Amino acid sequence: MRKAVPYITGLAVVLVLVVLAYRASPELRGSGPLDPTPLKGGNEKDNRAIGESDLEKLYPGLVLRAYKGPEKIVALTFDDGPDEVYTPQVLDILREKGVRATFFLLGSRIDENPEVAKRILDEGHSIGNHTYSHPKLVAASPELPQELEKCREAMARLGIGDNGFFRPPYGAAEPSLVEQARDLGYRVAMWSIDSLDWRGLSRAEVMRNIKGYVEPGSVILQHSAGGPGEDLSGSVLAVGDIIDLLTGQGYRFVTLPEMFPSPEKSP
Ligand SMILES: [Zn+2]
Repeated sequence: MRKAVPYITGLAVVLVLVVLAYRASPELRGSGPLDPTPLKGGNEKDNRAIGESDLEKLYPGLVLRAYKGPEKIVALTFDDGPDEVYTPQVLDILREKGVRATFFLLGSRIDENPEVAKRILDEGHSIGNHTYSHPKLVAASPELPQELEKCREAMARLGIGDNGFFRPPYGAAEPSLVEQARDLGYRVAMWSIDSLDWRGLSRAEVMRNIKGYVEPGSVILQHSAGGPGEDLSGSVLAVGDIIDLLTGQGYRFVTLPEMFPSPEKSP
């Protein structure tokens, strides 16, 4: 038994080193520069404490990942805007293709780019709440009501009302956060397909991350703004490709409020 102790200690040390090496390596965990307004929580990598499909099962009708019905519909969603570089390009493509999408905006960026935020509204897209400053919130916190309210106020200054959907920054949500958002009047909008576009992927790579996984009811996650040096140009170009491909396959594009009508409004 005594001989086993140093052996186990040695194993534990090796394990810790492996974990540290993994965490330190941008290669292994994916690297993504921060947004122009520094985001409190760091990169938009996967920080989910609980899988969103488990959350969806725990909170049906409250945590929304994908539509499960007979219609061949799909929703495009764009996070972290508005900015003055990529968001207008995304809007140009959507306008050209006649497609409406859902944008999860940051209040801080609405304040920085009010005219772009207004354009999103004017062109008929749906606007959801992605907090004011993109903190990493995971669990219920006094910060959440402040963040949601501050974002809502930034929208309200431009005459924008949010659509009642909250997308947690980093997709990180524990049950306590979901319940807090619900108590504040929000449904929690996750996604079923992650383009991973924040990694600065090429048009073809973004397309590949989406194309093979789309099914009726899918909610696709992309970003309409990134950080300094973050290249979303591949993602922007892929928007048109995705629309063309899915339209050709008979899909119809809807916004999240169209995909998930609020229970009060349903017949
Ligand atoms: Zn985000």
